[in-house]
Amino acid sequence: MTIIKILSVTFTLFFFSKQLINALLHMDSLRSEVRKRLIFGVVYGVCGILIMFFGVPVFDHGIIDFRYFFIIIAAYYGGMSASMLASALIAGGRVLLFGGLNETSITAGAFILLLGVFSGIIFAYKRLGGYWAKWSVSLLVLMALLYGNACYTYGIEWSGSLYTNLFPQLLASGLVVAYCVRYLTQRDELFQQKEQEATTDFLTQLANVRAFDAAFNRLFIQAESGKEPLALLFLDIDYFKKINDTYGHPAGDAVLRELAAIVRSTIRAEDVASRYGGEEFSILLPNCSPSGAYALAENLRSTIENCRITVNNTQTVGVTVSIGVACYPEVEQEFLIDYADQALYQAKLSGRNKTILWRS
Ligand code: GH3
Ligand code: MG
Ligand code: MG
Repeated sequence: MTIIKILSVTFTLFFFSKQLINALLHMDSLRSEVRKRLIFGVVYGVCGILIMFFGVPVFDHGIIDFRYFFIIIAAYYGGMSASMLASALIAGGRVLLFGGLNETSITAGAFILLLGVFSGIIFAYKRLGGYWAKWSVSLLVLMALLYGNACYTYGIEWSGSLYTNLFPQLLASGLVVAYCVRYLTQRDELFQQKEQEATTDFLTQLANVRAFDAAFNRLFIQAESGKEPLALLFLDIDYFKKINDTYGHPAGDAVLRELAAIVRSTIRAEDVASRYGGEEFSILLPNCSPSGAYALAENLRSTIENCRITVNNTQTVGVTVSIGVACYPEVEQEFLIDYADQALYQAKLSGRNKTILWRS
């Protein structure tokens, strides 16, 4: 029962810390590799400290908890720097909060630090094998360190009982924790992948129509409440059918991918570009005036006009685009899409390779 209690606290802490880490990693400012490792180290270090408050007495001496597993988890997610940071926090917590500066707690802290070093090495060492091999070796190292710590503190005779009384349960619990860590991690990755696929156009990697609709509603609410303008561009390739007919469909696909790359590099970070239909793109420009939107559209149009795109490995083609622009608040929200489309239609009618700004 003792082990089940400690395991449930471990799972609870792991589950909530994973939600916290997911939320933190979603923040743009925390996405760099170094910051990620820092987050893993700090969060799992704090988990390791918290779990010590739920320790359960075992045998005549000592209290058992699974703080060690959080060091291995930190090594798995964030490598050596995360496991070292987590172990340093846990070792510090062990000394300062549970026992003060005495020999027993300092020795325990030192063994925790050693586990941080070994777990970091084990998860960095590629030739050791896959996930299960690394967890198994980490758990064996953990038992060796716990035994060493017990021998140092309580003597060899007493420590031998760990092998029969504690280690089988510790090993089994460690493998169950490893299973859950992997299960939740794979779930998260799968969810993110499906979420990305559901909102991204496969060919161009721009937003798809579903994501455009969501962005349109979100940006319109933002524009309305902040009393800011919102511009919408519709961009359509001129005589695109001819490219397909002359060079083949894969060449047409290459042109679409290249134009998407030009659009991505021309717009601002806050703009949302999507593939609206076959060879039609839409771009939402938050907080952009009609003249700003027109200037961006003209910049895009002339960049595309002056660009040669390589297709079928050897041939190069040039394309032009027509662009229609409509802006809120000059145009009401419900007519924005319709009027940007009508402006595009006018650009086509008046000769193509043009930008037309809708004026009411
Ligand atoms: P306009 O200047 O009037 O826009 O002429 P257009 O030829 O560009 O327009 P039209 O609507 O006649 O043809 C659009 C073509 O786009 C037809 C279709 O085969 C092609 N298309 C749509 N989606 C894709 C795609 O994913 N890949 C390729 N290669 N072609 C596509
Ligand atoms: Mg076209
Ligand atoms: Mg079209």
